[in-house]
Amino acid sequence: MAVERIITEIRGDGPGRLTELNGYRIGPVNPVKKVYLQGALHADEQPGIMALSSLLPLLFEADRTNQLTAEFVVFPMVNPLGMGTVEFGMHQGRYDLPSGVNFNRDWPDLFLRIEQNLKGKLTDNVTENRTIILNTVRSWLETEQFVSARMQLRRAVMLEAYDADYVFDLHCDDLSLLHIFSSPHCNPQMESLGNWLSADAILTAEDSGGGSFDEVWPLLWLRAADAFPNHPIPVPPAACTIELRGQNDVGHEFGQRDATALFGFFQSEGLILGETVIPPKENVRITPLNATEILRVDRAGLLDYQVHLGDWVKTGEVVAHLIPLEGEQPFVGYREICAGTDGLVLSINSNKYVWQGRSIAKIVGNTPLASRGDYLLED
Ligand SMILES: [Zn+2]
Repeated sequence: MAVERIITEIRGDGPGRLTELNGYRIGPVNPVKKVYLQGALHADEQPGIMALSSLLPLLFEADRTNQLTAEFVVFPMVNPLGMGTVEFGMHQGRYDLPSGVNFNRDWPDLFLRIEQNLKGKLTDNVTENRTIILNTVRSWLETEQFVSARMQLRRAVMLEAYDADYVFDLHCDDLSLLHIFSSPHCNPQMESLGNWLSADAILTAEDSGGGSFDEVWPLLWLRAADAFPNHPIPVPPAACTIELRGQNDVGHEFGQRDATALFGFFQSEGLILGETVIPPKENVRITPLNATEILRVDRAGLLDYQVHLGDWVKTGEVVAHLIPLEGEQPFVGYREICAGTDGLVLSINSNKYVWQGRSIAKIVGNTPLASRGDYLLED
């Protein structure tokens, strides 16, 4: 049993910008499984830092009392580059400034990177195939050029996550209820996790089109199974993005509640021994991500919401009034912005000034919407 600090140095994109990625490795010498947890990949989304900071003491104590069967790798603040992006008195943590890339987009499709190197190597043994695939991924991660600070960070993170059985990426929305993004193959585990966390929705898609971090891990195995149908390929890891409510929902009570729920979930999976702290409560709802409407406006204006978080709306029901800021009669009257589906109001905006194409709400319906297309993320 051990608690180990992980400290990885990231060279900045210019002098004077050396930074460190800090985390912990906790657990037994021969773990049966591996859990990888990270928070604040979008560095302006800090509820995950609070949740994982609250979880760490629970894991330390479980380790001290020999209750852990799995290894836990935890990076509460996985994006020190984004945390350092403070300019003109404002923090902006969503985009890498040198490249303009959203920190949670364009993660590599690992299978495409290693496919050639797998040909002729797989066997009829599923355990051997797991090792072969993981070793090939590791080799690619160790030898590929990752030059910029953003890419160095990605390599460090992927080298910890690539062989995990559970990969949880903790984010948050703007003003929002707790929800989870995941792949449909994870539904049984996600249903359990959602119940532990009292999530209001689980939104599933195998590939949302944006290369988000949580999708990298299951897609590796799903693509391998497609490409090599004559060889047994292990089931993918349980991976998800957990949206821990809204950006300002950072506090001791939220942290304790989320940490306890995560701890309870891991206990229910057999990764932590001991008596379960609290039972899960609700029956979480699982729907395909393309059944969630991302309601947008087609011009600039000032929003006057007519609904609240957690409301159920009908198709055509007014979600917000949009007060015009220009045109024939600026500031006079409003346009009605209406729901395009029946569903639950999952998230809305804190900033009421919006512009053309801006999303103003997520509405969780049950029926896939043709209008959603192949790219399913908000931005
Ligand atoms: Zn995020």
